[in-house]
Amino acid sequence: MTIPFNKPFIAGKELYYIAQAVTYGNLSGDGYFTEQCSAFLRDTFDTADVLMTPSCTAALEMAAMLCGLTPGDEVIMPSYTFVSTANAFVRAGATPVFVDIRPDTLNLDETLIEDAITDRTRAIVPVHYAGVGCDMERIMSIASTHDLTVCEDAAQAVNARIGDRFLGTIGHLGCYSFHETKNYICGEGGALAINDPQLIERAHILRDKGTNRQTFLRGDIDKYTWVDIGSSYVPSELCCAFLWAQLERLDDISQQREQAYNRYLNALSDLEADNLLQLPHVPIECRSNSHMFYVLVATSETRTSLLQHLTQCGIHSVFHYTPLHSSPAGRRYGSAPQPLPVTDDISARLLRLPLYHDISADEQNRILQEVTSFLRSHSSNRLDSPHTASLQ
Ligand SMILES: *Cc1c(COP(=O)(O)O)cnc(C)c1O
Repeated sequence: MTIPFNKPFIAGKELYYIAQAVTYGNLSGDGYFTEQCSAFLRDTFDTADVLMTPSCTAALEMAAMLCGLTPGDEVIMPSYTFVSTANAFVRAGATPVFVDIRPDTLNLDETLIEDAITDRTRAIVPVHYAGVGCDMERIMSIASTHDLTVCEDAAQAVNARIGDRFLGTIGHLGCYSFHETKNYICGEGGALAINDPQLIERAHILRDKGTNRQTFLRGDIDKYTWVDIGSSYVPSELCCAFLWAQLERLDDISQQREQAYNRYLNALSDLEADNLLQLPHVPIECRSNSHMFYVLVATSETRTSLLQHLTQCGIHSVFHYTPLHSSPAGRRYGSAPQPLPVTDDISARLLRLPLYHDISADEQNRILQEVTSFLRSHSSNRLDSPHTASLQ
């Protein structure tokens, strides 16, 4: 029996709400369920406005447009992230400037940001990797000193917090994903949190094909027309009906994942004590949403052979990301003014273990047993072996 890497979680009432949407007769965007989802996210996460989108990629594209970028403008972001973080800003004419990550949280290293700022810098895009918050206090203070817009890539961080603030609501803009690999899903979906009220009106226009249709629907004008650039960033009601079934169980879904996450964490602590792997770090002020569970092993060779071993045992684990600064498009469109040693090192040694809502204790035990016996079988798997000393 194989253990998949991810299983899309079904909360229960998805088909019921889709059927309801069908009977309401409004299948395009901005019907009852779209409004339910956006109002719920806006109120629960306590922000000025939330607009549902077809994906986080679409939300990032809207965020890039809202930054008012012109060609040659620079946007600071990690290289250790998914392609959409950079692509959205490249499409808007900007150059991604890649900055290294912290070795503990694997988030943008806030101490390196100021050195990367030039007179062309317009925005910072912190990515909350694995649902663990970046140092937003420091990042917001840098942004305010240099008059930069902050767009949080909170794709993985729905319902995660720093202190009592939800990730995605601290910068000027925040982007969420409801892709089936994330915690809350509707197949493909996303949302844009607009935390700076000055950006709300234009965001509605960009999302609705560059028209002032929303103002028209409110009755403020008597016909609507093309007023700005824009695209079709409105998701179908059917997707929002599906998502509504998931959002209704927001905390309960997090708790299930947290249980599975903690089971991994506790079971692998001995291996960490013996220097056979490094476990994820969550700063004390952060409350993660247990989006993913990863381990860092000694070398890329160890990772390759552990991955092969798990595959042979029917366990599907994965790694990511190819750092954007070393990818073909990243080299063409982006720049990395400084070397990125942490990014290069981490991306070669990180392995993600299966984690989904209803992963069973038996499944986790099987995975844990294989990881443990594999890492304990070779002394070269130790993080402090002479073989790996150069990495420390
Ligand atoms: C998943 C993800 C995205 C893209 O989300 P989509 O909804 O698939 O467009 C962007 N950034 C990060 C960090 C992600 O993990």
